[in-house]
Amino acid sequence: MSTTAERTATKTYRNLIGGEWAEARSGKTFTSVSPANHDEVVGVFPASGPEDVDAAVGAAMAAFPAWSLMPAPKRGEILFKVARLLAEHKEELSRLMTREMGKVLTEARGDVQEAIDVAYYMAGEGRRMFGMTVPSEMPDKFAMAIRRPIGVVGLITPWNFPVAIPGWKLFPALICGNTAVIKPASDTPACAVRFVELLMEGGIPDGVVNVVTGSGTDVGHALVEHPDVRVISFTGHTETGIDISRRAADTLKRVSLELGGKNPIVIWEDAELQLALDSVVWSAFGTSGQRCTAASRLIVHRGVHDEFVEMLRKRVGALVLGDGLDPATDVGPVINDVAVDRIDGYMRVGRGEAELVVGGRPARDGALAKGSFFEPTIFTEVKPDARIAQEEIFGPVTSVIPVTSWDEAVRIVNSVKYGLSSSLFTRDVNLAFRSIRDFDSGLGYVNHGTIGAEAHLPFGGTKSTGNGHREVGQAALDFFSEWKSVYVDYSGKLQRAQIDMTFVDQE
Ligand code: NDP
Repeated sequence: MSTTAERTATKTYRNLIGGEWAEARSGKTFTSVSPANHDEVVGVFPASGPEDVDAAVGAAMAAFPAWSLMPAPKRGEILFKVARLLAEHKEELSRLMTREMGKVLTEARGDVQEAIDVAYYMAGEGRRMFGMTVPSEMPDKFAMAIRRPIGVVGLITPWNFPVAIPGWKLFPALICGNTAVIKPASDTPACAVRFVELLMEGGIPDGVVNVVTGSGTDVGHALVEHPDVRVISFTGHTETGIDISRRAADTLKRVSLELGGKNPIVIWEDAELQLALDSVVWSAFGTSGQRCTAASRLIVHRGVHDEFVEMLRKRVGALVLGDGLDPATDVGPVINDVAVDRIDGYMRVGRGEAELVVGGRPARDGALAKGSFFEPTIFTEVKPDARIAQEEIFGPVTSVIPVTSWDEAVRIVNSVKYGLSSSLFTRDVNLAFRSIRDFDSGLGYVNHGTIGAEAHLPFGGTKSTGNGHREVGQAALDFFSEWKSVYVDYSGKLQRAQIDMTFVDQE
């Protein structure tokens, strides 16, 4: 399809419930528009409500017995097919993502690739999913622990990784034998629905995966409060996560929350500055700064501060803003005009607290006039407790905080309420290991920016970034399965654990 035809194609999408494509029971709809050009409607979607959620949960419940009893290696074979199909459709999905969400095409391809990687990884888990066998404390007794599926899981996802995050949540949930209802972000429903269409094509049985589009209030609340949903996995704002936690408490759901970040890169005086520069530009301005792992604080040693800030000013000032489908674009739009206004509000705050080095305004000239664009922005001489150094701005804005000692750097790294990702640039191996020990975050990097997590290691953060769970890797299996400890006694007599076998020296 030519870019123009691609740009003008508006499609009507439906919910997926029990293998059937369905409108909202109310018949209401909403649209998703491109952040690069608000005149471009990407799709029309069901504005669903609690009755649609109820139908989807019912379909997931009905599909659960057969799916959970299917041998895990067979479920894995289906996920392998899905992974291959996603890989075949990677370009199409990536282009749809750039249209709907704005990130530049190379990054959209990376987003889809993450889902493919997790699909392959979890497909392989179908033949592992290790439990444990341990020696029993009694003779003639066998002891083991196995993983069991839980039931219907509700997945509530944000717009910034509209394929990767549904994939991160869904594939481990499925390989463990659960069935799912996905509620995608209202800014990126087309990505989610197309993703799920491909899963169905790959052979996921009807009802195992369901999608209900609509608002957080109408669909999100109903899913979180539904008595037949056993698990909620959520990624989004910290405030939303707290609300979900409270609502889920009445039905004692298992809840995983992946929330905000205020991620630091520490640039030490011995750092390789060119490498640090490349990494900072990628980590702070990739996805227009709308990553939970975005580097929004640069803690820079005074000894290299002026040189580094000058390098950064030149590089960031030359970044090209534009449509993510245009190969000349470095930085795409932010998600919508509400985001532009929020980021702009932080400019007023930042000018009162620090020095503006570059950027600082919404970009509305020429080809950018119909979209939601914001200039890549740097502040320096930022105090560690300034609002722009503490609050998640979620846009192309980063704050430089000068430091003179290691203890001061560690204190500042840990001075925010979040703890997702952190990074250190240094050639000093001792400092590198100290950063691993002392920076309070779920992800740590040395001589690499704050972004770039891989699918087979646990992903998540400390403090207000979450509630202690981790996504992907082996850790995701722990969240999406229930442990069952099993004892088989083949002694033929009553053996009382803790009573009949006491090895304590009683003399
Ligand atoms: P939101 O919290 O606004 O929304 C996330 C999802 O929750 C959307 O599907 C939204 O629906 C839904 N939702 C909103 N309110 C409720 C509610 N009360 N009950 C149930 N569901 C609700 O976050 P954003 O989409 O704006 O995503 C950005 C945030 O996500 C940032 O804070 C970012 O740091 C965080 N994030 C964290 C990651 C991590 O792993 N730690 C990774 C990526 C992002 P609707 O769209 O209809 O409003």
